[in-house]
Amino acid sequence: MIAENLKEIQATIPAGVTLVAVSKTKPVSDIQVAYDCGQRIFGENKVQELVDKSEELPKDIEWHMIGHLQSNKVKYIAPFVSLIHSVDGVKLLTEINKQGKKNNRVINCLLQFHIAQEYTKFGLSFEEAQDLLSSEEFIKMENISIVGVMGMATFTQNEDQLRHEFTTLENYFHVIKSHFFKFNPEFKHVSMGMSGDYLIAIEEGSNMVRVGSSIFGSR
Ligand SMILES: *Cc1c(COP(=O)(O)O)cnc(C)c1O
Repeated sequence: MIAENLKEIQATIPAGVTLVAVSKTKPVSDIQVAYDCGQRIFGENKVQELVDKSEELPKDIEWHMIGHLQSNKVKYIAPFVSLIHSVDGVKLLTEINKQGKKNNRVINCLLQFHIAQEYTKFGLSFEEAQDLLSSEEFIKMENISIVGVMGMATFTQNEDQLRHEFTTLENYFHVIKSHFFKFNPEFKHVSMGMSGDYLIAIEEGSNMVRVGSSIFGSR
């Protein structure tokens, strides 16, 4: 089923939108099926699982860390992770920068915003992001690149609410782009939308969707 699901999803995704196949909790054999269909970008939300899978699977996979990340675990993914979606504070960013330096690379990151009504979800407020991007610590960092924004909408069927939350993130993206990254073409990603809401997210400006259960089945 994975191959069929993946093709169906891919057919609904317009050019210019990146599909991150979220493979958390799924075995490497499932990821291999998606890989054999041409999928190269996979998202995981736990460090240990991401590392274990990366060791078993082909080296040209781009691994995205999409889950909440603790500073003390950055070192395990720093040598190879291709994008960290879940940067939500200067402490974490400082550690990513440090580990980037150790590994002699620049690590791509998204700033995660809190856009949902559910207070349990992680992420920065707009003001916190502005403070972070204006801080002296941030300006000195040479081994991270902020390449866009990420957010998770409320788990709801209410389409108006979803659209409102996605629009909020899209607006944050544009304001931050014009204030901090106007001349930086690498700041371009808006990561929003999951299995239940990715089509709405794309209509509201997403160019990176994170789809798990619609590809690999429920968890
Ligand atoms: C699990 C997860 C997804 C994918 O969720 P599905 O509903 O299975 O598509 C997307 N983003 C994040 C941050 C996740 O943790």
